[in-house]
Amino acid sequence: MTAKLIMGTEIREEILDEVQAEVAAIKEKHGVVPGLVTIQVGENPASTSYVTLKIKTAIRLGFHEVQDSQPEDISEADLLALVDKYNKDDSINGILVQLPLPKHIDDKKVLNAIDPDKDVDGFHPVNVGRLMIGGKEVKFPPCTPAGIQEMIVRSGMETSGAECVVVGRSNIVGKPMAQLLLGDSCTVTIAHSRTTDLPGVVRRADIVVAAVGRPLMVSGDWIKPGATVIDVGMNRLDDKLLGDVEFEAAAERARAISPVPGGVGPMTIAMLMHNTVQAAERAV
Ligand code: NAP
Repeated sequence: MTAKLIMGTEIREEILDEVQAEVAAIKEKHGVVPGLVTIQVGENPASTSYVTLKIKTAIRLGFHEVQDSQPEDISEADLLALVDKYNKDDSINGILVQLPLPKHIDDKKVLNAIDPDKDVDGFHPVNVGRLMIGGKEVKFPPCTPAGIQEMIVRSGMETSGAECVVVGRSNIVGKPMAQLLLGDSCTVTIAHSRTTDLPGVVRRADIVVAAVGRPLMVSGDWIKPGATVIDVGMNRLDDKLLGDVEFEAAAERARAISPVPGGVGPMTIAMLMHNTVQAAERAV
């Protein structure tokens, strides 16, 4: 393998150390402790393990951490009232509603009820708009694309003028990713299931971000020699976790590449903590 590995596990630790230093600084300067509430409805096991990790990380960083578990049959009105309670709570800087929500609740309605200045996931339409405007307007870049941006920059990749191809156009990864790369002065193409000649499009890219959800669909020989490759895919096949990129073949051509697991996955929670401390700083 010739490519350098972009390890999310290592970059996450760098970011968490930085966040911890910021937490200590606001505490000392303003006597404020960043507060994060996680609202979980029901007991979906995948959500529980993700929420547990978030709580552990928040506690490690010295946050004021609130875990609010609600029964599966909570009404939409009661959940909206709960969100409103945390909107008005000055000790809380970030509100996170763990998805998926039960079918009887309209998740859009709940996410849209979060105060945009406490929307640390960055999914509220106001924050999507801020991302579109770019620059200093961006308050909460969505955590997975923001983590990928950190991985690209910290791997030493020069973004200005780089040709980037983002494969996938979801609202949580592909579209915000493209917007962040545009903000970094890349020339950005978004590819999707209707793209004709996907191999030809990917071959142009200095930076490839694959966010498709199809195991190993980005073939190694599509990678331009010297490119930076970020694999967002998390595909469970039997007991294995596979990315969207044919890793070994791509690593023979790339300058740098993120593995699965150990690449993008660990970055999301780190960026959530980063967004929460930013919210606390803005609040003081
Ligand atoms: P998604 O909402 O299903 O979107 C997938 C995108 O891939 C769609 O835009 C789709 O195009 C495109 N696509 C599907 N088949 C294609 C093909 N043959 N050629 C080109 N494009 C194709 O998925 P997502 O939520 O963005 O997630 C993508 C992957 O990232 C998943 O494996 C997910 O598990 C992973 N993920 C990881 C993290 C993390 O590590 N923290 C976070 C989020 C997601 P159309 O729009 O045309 O249908």
